[in-house]
Amino acid sequence: MAAYKVRVSLSVQPAINAATRLCAVFGSPIKHSASPAMHNAAFAALGLNWRYVACEVDPRRLRAAIAGAQAMGFAGLNLTVPHKLLALEMVDVLDDSAKCWGAVNTIRFDEQGATGFNTDADAIVTSLREDLSAQLRGAKVLLLGAGGAGRTAALKLAAENVAELFLVNRTRGKAEAIAGEIRKQFKSVKVSTAYPPGAVDLLLNATSLGLRSEDALPLDERQFPLHRARAVYDMIYRPAETPLLHAARAAGCQTANGLGMLLHQGARAFEIWTGQPAPGAAMRRALEDSIYKNS
Ligand code: NDP
Repeated sequence: MAAYKVRVSLSVQPAINAATRLCAVFGSPIKHSASPAMHNAAFAALGLNWRYVACEVDPRRLRAAIAGAQAMGFAGLNLTVPHKLLALEMVDVLDDSAKCWGAVNTIRFDEQGATGFNTDADAIVTSLREDLSAQLRGAKVLLLGAGGAGRTAALKLAAENVAELFLVNRTRGKAEAIAGEIRKQFKSVKVSTAYPPGAVDLLLNATSLGLRSEDALPLDERQFPLHRARAVYDMIYRPAETPLLHAARAAGCQTANGLGMLLHQGARAFEIWTGQPAPGAAMRRALEDSIYKNS
């Protein structure tokens, strides 16, 4: 059944030949990435003779891998864990988005060389607005996690003029460091590293707790009962409903998973490489098929 579907989706695409443009995602580990399904569906939907592959790249070889893709005439790359910070030093030009958020998840190769972009930050708020109708200006937000995704989300939410940010992380020092950055850059945002004393408009999980079915909830419900959140967003998209989202739904919260974030960072990367509007519906369908069918 799966093999049949692959043949059908490729059949509308021009056959691979000497003119085929290539893109890739580099990461480690990479074998569960849904990006090839999403981008190949997008190329097919627009009839583009482009292909997208996933490559396992050890961080020690990242510089050589980027240079190799550039030398071979690739149109662009996506970078995922653990490459997004390393790549800041490995491109010729940093777009404002990469400078602003301090990480590169998309590279475009052209006459200017390799330009690094960040499409993750905008994708978070686009998904929050689309999937939860979130009004971020003036909102109170509890953000769990202070890794790469948590830091980007915290700074982006501050840039969107949320009123109050509560940053909670297992390693409190990392939340403190982000809180310090926000206090310096966004003086109007109230930021603390403790649980909120009352209700919040949004709870956002940016920890990796929930990826495995045996994981504990990423928050201490004695300190923050879930019914105090109007809406709960989990950046995790596999499984579709994490234990956090399950508990939040039971507590009456509006919920969404991170599929929209994955989609929007990819849609923007597609536009950066091809210069064409991304076919969002085809990309979403491909992601859902790739991630949820057979799982
Ligand atoms: P990082 O490894 O940089 O950060 C992991 C975060 O999870 C840290 O805050 C870490 O806390 C916390 N954490 C990990 N294990 C535990 C634990 N046992 N108990 C409590 N906290 C824990 O990962 P990323 O920031 O890149 O990714 C975070 C999550 O976001 C992942 O689940 C990832 O799948 C998801 N994600 C989704 C995207 C999307 O497109 N939807 C894009 C990017 C990420 P500590 O600092 O104490 O180690």
